[in-house]
Amino acid sequence: MEEIKRPKGTKDMLPQDDYKWNYVENTFKAVANTYAMREMRTPIFEYTELFLRGVGDTTDIVQKEMYTFNDKGNRSLTLKPEGTAPAVRAFIENRLFSEAQPTKLFYVTPCFRYENVQKGRLRQFHQCGIEMFGSKEPSIDGEVIAFAMEVLKKLGLKSLSLNINNLGCPNCRPNYNEALKKFLQENYDNLCPTCKERFEKNPMRILDCKERKCKEITKNAPQIIDYVCEECETHFEKVKEYLDILEIPYAIDPGIVRGLDYYTKTIFEILNDDFTVCGGGRYDKMIEELGGPNMPAIGFGMGIERMIMTLENEGFEIPKEAEIALYIGSMGDAAYKASFKFANELRSKGTKVEINHMGRSLKAEMKYANKIGARFTTILGDDELENKQIKLKRMRDGEIFSGSLLDIEKIIEIVK
Ligand code: ATP
Ligand code: MG
Repeated sequence: MEEIKRPKGTKDMLPQDDYKWNYVENTFKAVANTYAMREMRTPIFEYTELFLRGVGDTTDIVQKEMYTFNDKGNRSLTLKPEGTAPAVRAFIENRLFSEAQPTKLFYVTPCFRYENVQKGRLRQFHQCGIEMFGSKEPSIDGEVIAFAMEVLKKLGLKSLSLNINNLGCPNCRPNYNEALKKFLQENYDNLCPTCKERFEKNPMRILDCKERKCKEITKNAPQIIDYVCEECETHFEKVKEYLDILEIPYAIDPGIVRGLDYYTKTIFEILNDDFTVCGGGRYDKMIEELGGPNMPAIGFGMGIERMIMTLENEGFEIPKEAEIALYIGSMGDAAYKASFKFANELRSKGTKVEINHMGRSLKAEMKYANKIGARFTTILGDDELENKQIKLKRMRDGEIFSGSLLDIEKIIEIVK
């Protein structure tokens, strides 16, 4: 029969690599715990309307990248392209805004974007993300960025740079939009068709266009950071102060606008050479725009595949999970059944063991035990069953230890 392949832009996460993403997720979750954050899980799909309104209908994500389909009830649904809009939807729908604030949450989620597939760019990828709702204080901006840096540092990433920018708020945006439109006016005809549409609706979006021609045109465009109001400027100064307190180095990059419409004030990116591993920022208007109260918010997303790739590029050896403590071989039917029961007892006491499920010969069993990296092996036969005495061979050096089948704790002690 003909083989069926996985869809373009997707990746199988194979068992031999499980320790890699577990390492990233576990590190992320452990750090989240020290910041007193709780986990949230939202559905894989949402009503399409959520992303049109939440992410913004002039963004690349909404205009080009969403997996949108009608279900059998003829509702338009979309596979989540990012985690923030769903988190905000759930925050509002479940009335979490009436609890004591701030709400600090994290998630690990797949995201789906119909992108041009290339190195580090998939159509299904995974994100670790956090959102903090309810605080407008610049200290929370500082905490969010510090948290991201801490996760990446704990993972073992080395050459990281943090870029920040100030995107202002709806008060400062109109002035800036006018200045930007004036600048872009003379090159209007050379903009890509999508950006021509953006010109009136949301000119700032043009700065994030990936088309070469548009990039060329916007190279010397006026920058939002020079047009922000006093409140936004003061906020940004304080965020920088908090970064200084923690001695987190940063650069101000007035060119970053990020790919989503919802950002206000602080935005940031963390890069490693060619790849952005983390992107985030403040989005003080989204909760209200999605039907909730007027409440500020800030968060980020970091790509799990990107983090793994970057760690490997840096030559970091991701720690493997614990090896198999004991391989239990057997000779004869009675001994095989005994090995089956023995394995069960050891496992229920938390010991990682393996037995023969392939009908292997004794010689092949030992070869296999070696291959899977078992620390100890033992072989059960009629004698062992009768005397209740077994020999445990340490694979590293061949040393033999004796154990009694009547004293499982002792055996665990030896193979641990
Ligand atoms: P980029 O500029 O690389 O397209 P983005 O601004 O679209 O990134 P975000 O939406 O902020 O990215 O997503 C946060 C993080 O998720 C990124 O920094 C990256 O690590 C990861 N990411 C985004 N898109 C992809 C993708 N298509 N494949 C793999 N990882 C991705
Ligand atoms: Mg993108």
